[in-house]
Amino acid sequence: MTYGFDTLAIHAGQAPEARTGAVVPPIYQTSTYAQDAVGSPREGYEYSRSGNPTRDALQECLAALEGGRRALAFASGLAAEDTLLRTVCRPGDHVVIPDDAYGGTYRLFARVAERWGVSWTAAKVSDVEAVRAAVEPGRTKIIWTETPTNPLLGIADIAALSSLAHDAGALLVVDNTFASPYLQQPIAHGADVVVHSTTKYIGGHSDVVGGALIVADAGLGDELAYHQNAMGAINGPFDAWLTLRGVKTLGVRMDRHCDNAERIADYLSRHSAVAQVIYPGLPDHPGHETAAKQMRRFGGMISFRAAGGEQRAVEICNRAKVFVLAESLGGVESLIEHPGQMTHASAAGSPLEVPADLVRLSVGIETVDDLLADLEQALG
Ligand SMILES: *Cc1c(COP(=O)(O)O)cnc(C)c1O
Repeated sequence: MTYGFDTLAIHAGQAPEARTGAVVPPIYQTSTYAQDAVGSPREGYEYSRSGNPTRDALQECLAALEGGRRALAFASGLAAEDTLLRTVCRPGDHVVIPDDAYGGTYRLFARVAERWGVSWTAAKVSDVEAVRAAVEPGRTKIIWTETPTNPLLGIADIAALSSLAHDAGALLVVDNTFASPYLQQPIAHGADVVVHSTTKYIGGHSDVVGGALIVADAGLGDELAYHQNAMGAINGPFDAWLTLRGVKTLGVRMDRHCDNAERIADYLSRHSAVAQVIYPGLPDHPGHETAAKQMRRFGGMISFRAAGGEQRAVEICNRAKVFVLAESLGGVESLIEHPGQMTHASAAGSPLEVPADLVRLSVGIETVDDLLADLEQALG
């Protein structure tokens, strides 16, 4: 019997607790576990960096939602990325990264990994030939992609990149943070590893920071689990519990995020203060057809370029009221931000620099008329 997505979100890894029948997995807020005899930890639990039942529940749930063999939950999305990078790459290796990756991902590769001898090339992931040209045969170990990308919402063809990666002997890693597993399951399209900042849609309530890796292959899962314990950037029990609490409603939240975003994208495309709306659900988006092929719907993230340049973009951000001026995304509340000066400031002067007139919206699940009215007054 295979269950549907929402059933898995609510039940996978979350069977009622054996002793009391507690319907919700308890927060095992413990660092260590009593052992019955030397060398006999109960059910393998000996120390909470190595294993914790609350974290295990979250990991099992995430593996089910992404259709992977194994999931590992980390202290943050970047902790997950770092662990992956240091498990797979050695000095002398090379990775291909998106030319509009999340700013923190770019910083990890450009300012940290490079010092350890791992080089990188940025390529437009929506252009398979550009990615192919960036691969260094024999040296490239990872093709890293986001789809949709942050913040320009480029769409990468996961199936095409996975055959390209596999022909080159590299892994295809997909950062699925923007889509969430409800809208897109990269492993089914050939990805080897899915990365999440669970801080965003999976947690969904802007109250916890976390990350995850989900893998298609059990052997890579074992290696990553070894490094998760060896490097130590684990997701804590309370954070895992909050994330599990959030993920139960992922499907219903995503549907409302998408409903609201579709209305707002349509409104913005008809507004004279907006020079360009970037939303994969719009038929004029260059990745629209690929997105339609691999995503259930088009998500809750919209970027737009303000007519009148950077100053206007900044004013719109400052004037919004229901849309909270803040970094991050994926929570129930709508957020607005200026990537050039906020989330993507670390990419300034690099190949990943974003347009100065860009505004990014994380469309929440509030009453859509209130969101439209707020944009109306902010666009002035
Ligand atoms: C936020 C984010 C990350 C980093 O995750 P943290 O939980 O903040 O460490 C990685 N990728 C994308 C696409 C993100 O939006």
